[in-house]
Amino acid sequence: MIQLNTFEEVLKEAGTQNKKLYEICQEHEAEILETSVEKVREKVQINLNAMKDAIFSGLKSKEKSMSGLCGDDCAKLIEKYKSGKIFFSETYQKVLLYSFATIEQNLRMGKIVACPTAGSCAIVPSVIVAMSEAANANEEIQINALITAGLIGEIVSNKLALAGAVAGCQSECGVASAMAAAALVEIYNGTNDQILQAAALTLKNIMGLVCDPVAGLVEVPCVKRNAFLAIYAITGAELAMAGINSVIPIDEIVDAMKQVGELMSPTLKESSEAGLATTKTGLEIAQALIQKWNAGS
Ligand code: SF4
Repeated sequence: MIQLNTFEEVLKEAGTQNKKLYEICQEHEAEILETSVEKVREKVQINLNAMKDAIFSGLKSKEKSMSGLCGDDCAKLIEKYKSGKIFFSETYQKVLLYSFATIEQNLRMGKIVACPTAGSCAIVPSVIVAMSEAANANEEIQINALITAGLIGEIVSNKLALAGAVAGCQSECGVASAMAAAALVEIYNGTNDQILQAAALTLKNIMGLVCDPVAGLVEVPCVKRNAFLAIYAITGAELAMAGINSVIPIDEIVDAMKQVGELMSPTLKESSEAGLATTKTGLEIAQALIQKWNAGS
């Protein structure tokens, strides 16, 4: 069986077999699950469809989350775009819109694809779907991109737990952003090396991101962080496709992220004991929510 323990191994294997990374990944998955590559791709298609359902349902809703903190940012963006005030391109708008649409569905307890986690569920779908629309990439290409994203997440997770409670947000939104960057390079048919460079550049520059959710809810800063890191992924892909490489190899970056996660104070790992959670406003929000919920409203 092919071993996919490190990025170096998978890149070497793909080179030996003259295949794209997604091909190596789907064959590996088929072998593990004792099924066919076609069946693996059918499952990926189901996830891709669920991602699109979350985006297009989220675009139509203004319903707030139970806390009342979030839920109408997507609608605000839609209104802004109607005014014609556009900073960048229509594609940029779509990435942001699709990100807010997806993460707000998560807050409403709608169906999303944890990619790699629920808190970071909007980054990969918003980049794959919006950028595929821009590139006229068909379903087959989108599936290839999603498998590529999955490969990045899988190999990182061999060393680094993908959980804010273990390694901070670098391991949730940070890894999602790297997955999306890699997927975007695949959409534009970049090389295997460019795919890993995109992931490396993105991971390297998100290292150390803490997990400090206000009131312990996956809302503030998580919602807006998904949108920011979706855009960030595009930067990673753009640089890699221009031949700009990470000086530090991706496997070493993951090792460094693990070290940083271990050095990170437990107060900054989803415990809401520091960072934004303990700002004056963060504490006031938490207190108000406790009172509201104790009162049964
Ligand atoms: S801040 Fe924490 S809870 Fe929010 S998305 Fe990041 S890791 Fe998840």
